[in-house]
Amino acid sequence: MIESVKNVLIVGGGISGLTAAIALEKIGIKTEIVELKEDWNVYGVGIFQPPNALRALNEIGVAEKCIQLGYSFSGTAFADVNGNLFGEPNPPKIEGYPGLNIISRRTLHEILLEEAESSGVKITMGVTVEEIDDQGNHVDVKLTDGSTVTVDLVIGADGFHSKVRDLLFGKVQHEYVGQACWRYELPRPKELMNSVLYYGKNAKAGLVPMSEEKMYLLLMSPEPENPRMPDDRMHELLRERLQEFGGMVAEAREQITDPSAVVYRPIFSFMLPSPWYKGRTVLVGDSAHCSTPHLGQGASIAIEDVIVLAELLEKGNDVHQVLNAFMERRYERCRLLVDSSYQLVKWELMEWEGIPLEEANPAKFSHMVFEKMNEAI
Ligand SMILES: Cc1cc2nc3c(=O)[nH]c(=O)nc-3n(C[C@H](O)[C@H](O)[C@H](O)COP(=O)(O)OP(=O)(O)OC[C@H]3O[C@@H](n4cnc5c(N)ncnc54)[C@H](O)[C@@H]3O)c2cc1C
Repeated sequence: MIESVKNVLIVGGGISGLTAAIALEKIGIKTEIVELKEDWNVYGVGIFQPPNALRALNEIGVAEKCIQLGYSFSGTAFADVNGNLFGEPNPPKIEGYPGLNIISRRTLHEILLEEAESSGVKITMGVTVEEIDDQGNHVDVKLTDGSTVTVDLVIGADGFHSKVRDLLFGKVQHEYVGQACWRYELPRPKELMNSVLYYGKNAKAGLVPMSEEKMYLLLMSPEPENPRMPDDRMHELLRERLQEFGGMVAEAREQITDPSAVVYRPIFSFMLPSPWYKGRTVLVGDSAHCSTPHLGQGASIAIEDVIVLAELLEKGNDVHQVLNAFMERRYERCRLLVDSSYQLVKWELMEWEGIPLEEANPAKFSHMVFEKMNEAI
């Protein structure tokens, strides 16, 4: 007998987990989220929301709020170390949406959490899965608080270090790409109207407005061997790496004074082979595919994953057919993004090593990928 999915356990309350809960509650599926963190504690620097992210968020009714509370403009400009522009912002558009919206991660989290709570989603903090016992027609999940829940489907939305993925497929290999990303929130100079990426000889910097008042500075730098960074010197290390940049980046550099306000992330790339499901448990977002941030699309495809999953579940087919159809809709699109983001990393690393790159054109290449990402999902 074909039975539709009526209740779902979502592991992880990040961007994809909260979006999944909202999307599923909207179509009458009861959801429960278990989140490992005791408190949300989401950091404040911003996140790029290209048009396809906003289009997907519109499916759960929050795109407009993101635009209202974020900062929208036509796209990212490209400049040399001193801020001389060599590429105007001109990314491909989707009708009805700005070329790019930037929003504080904390604000995005608050929007999603408020929507999830008002949809009736049950959220339990400080808890994760211990065992997943697939019984064929349902799943019994033992949680770390000692309780067991019985559901029709489990969604692993627990990010890059996914425990659900470990339980399903065992430990997998993530590739450290040899770069790290540094971010720091600062007041926005009034003349910064859109995001700008500054291409240096040793690193790439960026200034990104995220509201009328705030912006963040970002830096992608080569960090071979994924070094352990000293917490108390983070501001000095970031400033050192920004020495080659002039103009507005140099002015921003002088305001970097608090080591604890530096958000530092080593960058990894990872793509789980298809299928991302086993029985009645499926992975979405970074737990299945983790792209480097070079195209600012990781969260977009995580959000798209759960919008597509909800659309397929609404049709009420057998869960195994749904998950097969899910893979057909998602795998190649996500692979394209993971591979393309990594291509940009490789070009940057070669350039910073002084290897001439006649054929590389990151702006043109990014434009081409954005066109693909704007295609219907
Ligand atoms: C430096 C950097 C910059 C980026 N910039 C952008 C950008 O501008 N635009 C963009 O679209 N993407 C960007 N990304 C990618 C984006 O952040 C991720 O793709 C996105 O957060 C993935 O969402 P997710 O919900 O799958 O995972 P996450 O956001 O990682 O959420 C996972 C959640 O699960 C919880 N969790 C973890 N383990 C467990 C467990 N065992 N049990 C229960 N809960 C658990 C976590 O606490 C968290 O709340 C960037 C990434 C990096 C590293």
